Amino acid sequence: MNNTLLTANNIKKSFNEGPLNVGVLKGLEFSVNKNETIAIIGSSGSGKSTLLHLLGGLDVPDSGNILINNQNINKLNDTERGVLRNKYLGFIYQFHHLLPEFTAVENVALPLLIRRDSRVTAEKKAKELLCSVGLSERLQHKPGELSGGERQRTAIARALVTNPKCILADEPTGNLDEKSAHEVFELIISLNKNLGSSLIMVTHNLELSKQADRVFELKEGKLYDL
Ligand code: ADP
Ligand code: MG
Repeated sequence: MNNTLLTANNIKKSFNEGPLNVGVLKGLEFSVNKNETIAIIGSSGSGKSTLLHLLGGLDVPDSGNILINNQNINKLNDTERGVLRNKYLGFIYQFHHLLPEFTAVENVALPLLIRRDSRVTAEKKAKELLCSVGLSERLQHKPGELSGGERQRTAIARALVTNPKCILADEPTGNLDEKSAHEVFELIISLNKNLGSSLIMVTHNLELSKQADRVFELKEGKLYDL
């Protein structure tokens, strides 16, 4: 049985900065197994967000292949890629990107409504997820009425509500105080373990990163085992 969920082969990506073409990823190789937790560290500007964008199909590499569940995501058309993203991937960012006018339940239900689940089903699942991230008392609150840690928990519930095969998290605790960062980090790891999804998490925190199954450093355009 093939245990690999995601593979990146010889990924190259550069950006034009004025007249210069600057290489960010330089033949990067990477693979993630089902249910595996991966932490990626690296200095600012080393290309961590660029890598996650490519893995999530939000941007395309200059060359190389990204396979998710044996499908080459860069060979899909926009609709197919959208379906794959909605079905397989969940995203957590440094800033929560919740919709301010909607309640916690409505925010978390949104990915399911996009998938055309009924409102009743979507909100039921959203409430379950919000309870599992410790927000049973905050279901009807809007983002402006939540603390930073609570907003990030809501964003985690939103990323997990579709039962994704893999969560891509870009410095999800980067904007939190130390205590909340710890709690949110542990929550992401334990929920992933419970739900059986893979996790690729970019973090600045070397101490927290040690809880992952494998830790990599992104350096000079490639990933190195730590
Ligand atoms: P990190 O997340 O590790 O801090 P990024 O992936 O955001 O790093 O950026 C890596 C490099 O690529 C930086 O030098 C950044 O300026 C450049 N870069 C990223 N995105 C773009 C873009 N859309 N256009 C031009 N340059 C970019
Ligand atoms: Mg970044």
